[in-house]
Amino acid sequence: MRRRDDLTSFEPYSWEPSTEEIARSVGLRPSRIVRMDTNVSPHAPVEVLEELAKRLPRLKVNQYPDTSYRELRELLADYTDWDQELIVPTNGADEGIDIISSAFLKAGLEAVSPVPTYSYFRVSTELQGARFVPVERDEDLGFTAERLLERCGRDTAVFWICDPNNPTGNPVDERTVRRLCEETEALVVVDEAYFEFSGRTSVRLLRDYPNLCVIRTLSKAFGLAGLRVGYVLCTEEVVRELNKARPPNSLGTVNVAGAVIALRNRAYVAEVVEEIVGERERLFGELSRIEGLKVFPSSANFLLIRFRGEEEAVAVKERLLRRGIVVRAFPGNPRLKDCIRVTVCSRRENERFLRSLREALEEVRQVQPRRAA
Ligand code: PMP
Repeated sequence: MRRRDDLTSFEPYSWEPSTEEIARSVGLRPSRIVRMDTNVSPHAPVEVLEELAKRLPRLKVNQYPDTSYRELRELLADYTDWDQELIVPTNGADEGIDIISSAFLKAGLEAVSPVPTYSYFRVSTELQGARFVPVERDEDLGFTAERLLERCGRDTAVFWICDPNNPTGNPVDERTVRRLCEETEALVVVDEAYFEFSGRTSVRLLRDYPNLCVIRTLSKAFGLAGLRVGYVLCTEEVVRELNKARPPNSLGTVNVAGAVIALRNRAYVAEVVEEIVGERERLFGELSRIEGLKVFPSSANFLLIRFRGEEEAVAVKERLLRRGIVVRAFPGNPRLKDCIRVTVCSRRENERFLRSLREALEEVRQVQPRRAA
């Protein structure tokens, strides 16, 4: 079999294990596992599902879905205040990233991105045979347009910008997005997967810059990660290119029906956001009071926590796992190897996390007492 030699040393996305698999590995029941590693909502929107259940018997699943996704686009237009003709629904934000990559990247071209950031930008770029150019963020985890523009050359076709950034939680300055759009011919992609928690958006800049697009998803604040619905807000120039690359039927009839119901009844999203933002700030306060931890301010639904060292971060992660709490660590990442990322969940789950974290830290610090300065 002939293989792509450019993928010989390619590092694929590291898939999260299933809850069942995790439960088995630590000898707990799956219902005891709290997923604080995937940045999703702690609540499945039951009313949306009940309404979907009522409609299921009439869904024409023997037919292909309406590949123009007209009804979904109308509701997304109302939600985002953007032109429905310039919205491309996708099978999750990840497919949005892939469609952009296949429309704008190829071997010989490159995509520039401030890192650390969402790892799928690199994966999707490299799968097109293009080069991913990481630009290290500053000490405070921010970045400037100048730093990215310095690395921008004739072959730069895409900038991947995550706002607020996963995994650091910090927002992007509007002037930075404007400068990138003004000073390059490349496509500037702003991934706003966590938009609802930050309230900040680059959507209104779409009127000013033809080389901009915004990726969103119903996976986070809408509580629909399992339904796989995302969308790209585009300009006329960009939508033309994305329509060349988008698969005809990537969103299933059931996904679309669920998304339509959620968007029609979206009052629940504001309640989720209020709860999670309140819990985020409470957790931030509680964690900041624990000696030796640095918690980074976050505009998203997760917090990045720095420990006294890599050993402490890894040991805490392991001890949390034994207690059924799954968090994200970053082994091998020079900037984040002493950090964990924690999704803000419901009050009860967050309390369980705090309790377990304090216990875990006490155990770890008994074994690894802090070296004298
Ligand atoms: N973008 C970012 C920044 C993310 O964190 C995620 C979720 N991990 C995604 C995109 C993918 O979201 P979706 O479930 O919509 O594919």
